[in-house]
Amino acid sequence: MMTTLTSDTTRVGLGYDSHRLVKGKPLVLGGVEIPFAKGEAGHSDGDALLHAIIDSLLGAAHLGDIGQMFPPSCDKWKDSKSLDLLKIAWQKVISYGWTLVNMNCIVRLEKPALLPHKDKIIRSIASALNTDEKRISVSAKTAEGLGDVGRGDAVEALAACLIASSPNTAT
Ligand code: MG
Repeated sequence: MMTTLTSDTTRVGLGYDSHRLVKGKPLVLGGVEIPFAKGEAGHSDGDALLHAIIDSLLGAAHLGDIGQMFPPSCDKWKDSKSLDLLKIAWQKVISYGWTLVNMNCIVRLEKPALLPHKDKIIRSIASALNTDEKRISVSAKTAEGLGDVGRGDAVEALAACLIASSPNTAT
């Protein structure tokens, strides 16, 4: 059985995800659809950024990972919106008495530029976590032509978070 330690004051979490980019799929990052010729192949909508965020939160709370909570083999989660998965995962973390201090994310994507969409992505993540936008940071990096990301064949995301025991529910 999964357990978590609310006797700790704070805990750090780290998440990572990558998806292939293919033609004919929408590019969804942080719950925001970004106009582009390619999008993420994968389970659900393939939102690599939200998948990394989910793993960072579950990891911080010692509640397993996204694959355990939403098994790809389970039809229930097929074609799920990752924003909905994030809300479910975050409710689970909250139920153990945690609150979010901050979330810091990196997206590795050659094209398109994410800067014009960054504010909307931050708003979307903050809304799903029911938290202030100032607690969410997102950086975008290109791979300068190197590797799968550099060729435009993949998107990668990393997320680090800090969670704190809620003063109302900590034990
Ligand atoms: Mg994924």
